[in-house]
Amino acid sequence: MRKPPFLPICARIMQIPGHIDPVITGTVPLRGGNRVDLVGLTREGIRGALEEAGLDAKAAKLRGKQIWHWIYHRGVTEFDAMTDIAKAMRPWLTERFIVGRPTVREAQVSNDGTRKWLLAAADGQEYEMVFIPDADRGTLCVSSQVGCTLNCRFCHTGTMRLVRNLTAGEIVGQVLLARDALGEWPKGTMASAPDADDEDDDAGHYTADGRMLTNIVMMGMGEPLYNFDEVKGALKIVMDGDGLALSKRRITLSTSGVVPMMARAGEEIGVNLAVSLHAVNKEVRDEIVPLNRKYGIEDLLAACAAYPGANNARRITFEYVMLKDKNDSDADARELVRLIKQYKLPAKVNLIPFNPWPGAPYECSSPERVRAFSNLIFEAGISAPIRTPRGRDIMAACGQLKSAATRPTRAELDRIAAEKQAALG
Ligand code: SAH
Ligand code: SF4
Repeated sequence: MRKPPFLPICARIMQIPGHIDPVITGTVPLRGGNRVDLVGLTREGIRGALEEAGLDAKAAKLRGKQIWHWIYHRGVTEFDAMTDIAKAMRPWLTERFIVGRPTVREAQVSNDGTRKWLLAAADGQEYEMVFIPDADRGTLCVSSQVGCTLNCRFCHTGTMRLVRNLTAGEIVGQVLLARDALGEWPKGTMASAPDADDEDDDAGHYTADGRMLTNIVMMGMGEPLYNFDEVKGALKIVMDGDGLALSKRRITLSTSGVVPMMARAGEEIGVNLAVSLHAVNKEVRDEIVPLNRKYGIEDLLAACAAYPGANNARRITFEYVMLKDKNDSDADARELVRLIKQYKLPAKVNLIPFNPWPGAPYECSSPERVRAFSNLIFEAGISAPIRTPRGRDIMAACGQLKSAATRPTRAELDRIAAEKQAALG
């Protein structure tokens, strides 16, 4: 049998620009042994895999389209359930392909309804995903890496080594698994969307339809712009009108400020942008977001001003974690307003009360301080809501995610932090 036309997962895990931690580059075993996992492949990738397995071009195109629809519109994982595919062909497919899901190691529910899953990849690497239900929406917080190369001082994930990038399949797999867990794959008839071939259809065909999962935020573990290709591949699948069909307006990508990748993110992915600003001067941002030593505030804000697609209807969100006596003064709030105005940014500010974790070196600002900070920004005409912490009791809130697999010792932690800072300096 000929080999599949695409690279195995291990070869698709890219080196990370600027990374200094050892990244596991060994083979990631394929789920399902020698069978090819179709989740995460593009439409062309599926078609190509079918052709390589022996179908002629016409049959591969037809079957590829059907399989895509079953995987992403209907959430089906067994070829036997794909009823419009000839019965005789289904075992043939089962022998060669799988439709994989991450393994669920642990599932927890917070007393506020937030749900957190600890997931395992085929190579045993662990990562987390969080679902946050609200009255009018349900947001899935998706991870892009196991661990993170960056080392923001207030973030629990930042205390992990980067173990590896997640693949597009592992990223989109989180969305599929959430749909499974929430029991909300459509059960009715299987009509293809009218313009199913139009992959750039950013409007999508998705209507909430009473469903729970309506929004996606790339705000789980990892820095999505240090895993650009896989994140882009996954989000293209999520936005595809003949599948999950989530509109780009319902997807937000959060970056700690990987300036050189921001324009490409806007042009090639086109989702909403959130930027983890967290400080308004070099001294403080250098300390709490060490990436600032590489890409400073001015460069970051200039990249925001140039972000394709940002306008008053689609504002850039500036995330600002409230750290007691560190970045929470009235002067800080005024400087934040000044910067936003200086760069003429269509912006809103999201104030995040610091979520504590064991050994964290900061405390959360008092509720009064957070409110005063918020008011100063509102008074300048910029929206600055305070994000309600969700899922703190199960360590599911912003910055609390961390899989146990690679917990380093205190001494290792200090060494990792020193190494990361030296590399950025
Ligand atoms: N790596 C990306 C996205 C993941 S973090 C980024 O940094 O933007 C999602 C958000 O949670 C970021 O704004 C991050 O700075 C913030 N965050 C991290 N640790 C936190 C903590 N302990 N409390 C509150 N917010 C935190
Ligand atoms: Fe990484 Fe984001 Fe945490 Fe910083 S805040 S360490 S970039 S996950």
